[in-house]
Amino acid sequence: MTTDEFRKYAHDLVEWIAGYFENVENYPVKSQVKPGEIFDRIPGKAPLLPEPFENLIRDLDEIIMPGITHWQSPDFFAYFPSNSSPPSVLAEMITAALGAQCMNWETSPAAAELEEKMMIWLRDLTGLPENFEGVIQDSASSATLAAILTAREKSTDYLINNTGFKNSPQLRVYCSEQAHSSVEKAVKISGIGRSNLVRIPVRNDFSMDPAKLETAVSEDIRNGYLPCCVVATIGTTGTTAVDPLRPVGEICRKNNIWLHVDAAMAGTALLLPEFRWMTDGKEYIDSFLFNPHKWMFTNFDCTAYFIKDAARLIKTFEILPEYLKTRTRGCVNDYRDWGIPLGRRFRALKLWSVIRSYGVEGLQDKIRQHIRFASELEEMIREEKDFEILAPVVINVVCFRYKPEGMDEDSLNKLNEKLNHALNDSGKIYLSHTVTAGKYTLRMVTGQTNVTLAHVRKAWELIRNTARNITV
Ligand SMILES: *Cc1c(COP(=O)(O)O)cnc(C)c1O
Repeated sequence: MTTDEFRKYAHDLVEWIAGYFENVENYPVKSQVKPGEIFDRIPGKAPLLPEPFENLIRDLDEIIMPGITHWQSPDFFAYFPSNSSPPSVLAEMITAALGAQCMNWETSPAAAELEEKMMIWLRDLTGLPENFEGVIQDSASSATLAAILTAREKSTDYLINNTGFKNSPQLRVYCSEQAHSSVEKAVKISGIGRSNLVRIPVRNDFSMDPAKLETAVSEDIRNGYLPCCVVATIGTTGTTAVDPLRPVGEICRKNNIWLHVDAAMAGTALLLPEFRWMTDGKEYIDSFLFNPHKWMFTNFDCTAYFIKDAARLIKTFEILPEYLKTRTRGCVNDYRDWGIPLGRRFRALKLWSVIRSYGVEGLQDKIRQHIRFASELEEMIREEKDFEILAPVVINVVCFRYKPEGMDEDSLNKLNEKLNHALNDSGKIYLSHTVTAGKYTLRMVTGQTNVTLAHVRKAWELIRNTARNITV
């Protein structure tokens, strides 16, 4: 493709993207295709000869779009959001065009230094302690793995990194019953073993019970285990429960345990001073993550990972073969030593673009609105006698179910599952579910970039009407 052709197709595609933003509500939110349908429409063999780019744009509309679930639709209320926004998309175009490999400071000083500055901005915007340093990871899952590996090396004095597990005491990791599956994955692949992940029971509001944590830790110590890391969650994936950092942190401090905090979605709420109660006890935190790629309008991938003692992270990950030696080593941040992959994309650019385009107040306004939508939705649901709220509404997630009179728990579970599928198959909205205290629970998240109260009201109308016309 020549530069002139590129210019033409790029303009065409920008039109396509802007049109998509304008029309995203007209697609079925959840893709309605069957397994294999898209696969079968793509040729089995790669083309031998060059094809005009028009063909690709045509196939984008005809083959690909039917198989897309529209996370950027304001009628998307499932999972947690994976928000994009125009300033984020524009910055990603630049990142792709520069194609810089940002493994070391030298391989693009601007990328390293902008990343360092963006992490300072985010640290201060979320009110994290000033001695924290930050790095962008690709996902919360990778950041939690990095935290558990760093904790593992700290508690064994770098024994596992050097000689493996042979002479190591058995390490233990703790999280609540409601913690994200990425914790189990990290414990499993870090060599600690999933049977050494201790799941602490939760209180009525689905947050970790610190008394139960204390008991579990003491019992483990008595039995010869070495407690290594506690993963506390701020905003659990099921119901956005907030584990109490202060008592959990005190237990960690007393027993020399690493405290890692997973605030993947809810961390964005820390941009609001009125939500800083969630990090009361922050002085105990060793590492902390949140995902601007969830609720902060910065498209995937972008996890902000903060650490109190960055030297420990670097000591766990660094490796210095001859071909990576540079003259600036030691006086700059070589972010390849701050995580698992060597190669890194220039991701700080989209954060810079998003924060500058919205401004801090613009971000705060939007987040506050989303939180208000959730509490308005909660009120609408509470007004109906045949619906029930199933968990405290803390931030932007409302957990509820349809509960007509005279049905047993088993039938209610079946009914609500059927309701969820009927709503999603309608293509009009997309919800996902969780299970709370054995109950099939619908979850509605009001955090999509462009969601308005009108979208929430319309969705609630649809849910109410669909529910009342459904039978098991
Ligand atoms: C979404 C989520 C994760 C996983 O995030 P990725 O960035 O996709 O790895 C981890 N923890 C919590 C609490 C989450 O909600």
